[in-house]
Amino acid sequence: MADETVVYIGLGSNLGQKEANIKKALKALSAETSIKLIASSSIIETKPLAEKKQPNYLNCVAKITTSLEAGELLKVLKRIESEGDRKESAEKWSSRTIDLDILLFGDEIIQIDQLTVPHRQMHLRSFVLSGLCELAPQVVHPVLQENASVLYKRLNGKDFYIDTDKGKLISIAGVIGAGKSTLATGLSNKFGFELIKESYETNPFMQRVYAGDKTVALDSQLYFLLSRCEQLKEENLTPGYFAVSDYIMDKEMIYAELWLDPVQRQMYEKINAALNKTVASPSLAVYLKLAPDKCLERVKKRKRPYEQKLELPFLEELSAGYEKLFEKFDICPAMTIDADEFDFRRDGEIEKLGAKINYYIGCD
Ligand code: ATP
Ligand code: CA
Ligand code: CA
Repeated sequence: MADETVVYIGLGSNLGQKEANIKKALKALSAETSIKLIASSSIIETKPLAEKKQPNYLNCVAKITTSLEAGELLKVLKRIESEGDRKESAEKWSSRTIDLDILLFGDEIIQIDQLTVPHRQMHLRSFVLSGLCELAPQVVHPVLQENASVLYKRLNGKDFYIDTDKGKLISIAGVIGAGKSTLATGLSNKFGFELIKESYETNPFMQRVYAGDKTVALDSQLYFLLSRCEQLKEENLTPGYFAVSDYIMDKEMIYAELWLDPVQRQMYEKINAALNKTVASPSLAVYLKLAPDKCLERVKKRKRPYEQKLELPFLEELSAGYEKLFEKFDICPAMTIDADEFDFRRDGEIEKLGAKINYYIGCD
């Protein structure tokens, strides 16, 4: 007997008797002599991708074993789709009675005509990863080398997709001293991502704020806000290309909480919310996480004059603000990196991360 491969299949339906369609497809899978249906996840309701005006989907994931090659299995899936009355459509992500995708085929990485495995966007879809986590939270994505549970948590319940018509922004976030600029610059140098750096040096108010003078804190915040809006204009990003910023727009409110009095904060919040709508939102956030005392150590070591008055309690509050931000962050996937373990000066580290980012939000 040929070797059996463990395969995970994603099922979806948004036309007709959706639940019955999914159950019928599961039955059809188990009726195949070369396929054994091992388990299926619960069926969940999902909004269509890309805000398409379509009926909601029902989705689930099935675990099968099969003696078929991946290409042969795809043929079987397409046959089951057509038996389920799925109509061909040239439109991307069109409504369908039944969709069957190969998510994982053992630990194989397959790129042949008509078939890409792992499924090229599975890591961006909560509706896939939640089902996969029910069945196999530890199963490893063979390209990303991360398990289903890690990939799922990164999305905070949301579904994302790659918009090929737009340039992509990667925003690096983290407390002062975590290494954001080093990482952004490294990625830019090694992968040609366009580098967008926070304009610290030109902000005429920031040194005074860092030295404890809160009377110009609002001015400093507004200065940063306006410069970020200039830098992150949608038209500054080139379709098909990546840009990397050494800050994340959403951190502004963390600083506002720390530096502004309540009335100023309210005003600032409104201005910030209005201007936020005018900037490109990131396709991926990279949160460099480092304990506040370690950040302080690095700040002292790098000897930027205006940073030397920073104290531990301030960095602790900042760190708490970032933790809160990323606990519920759902604007884009957020990769958290332990900055203590990740030393980007070490050979190959930036290359590894950059390759992962390229795969994660790229479309090849
Ligand atoms: P998505 O792949 O983003 O979920 P979709 O399922 O709506 O989109 P389809 O129209 O069903 O896309 O499929 C288009 C083609 O994708 C199929 O004809 C198939 O040959 C190819 N394909 C590539 N990789 C896979 C895969 N892992 N599983 C299923 N089909 C795949
Ligand atoms: Ca699909
Ligand atoms: Ca499909």
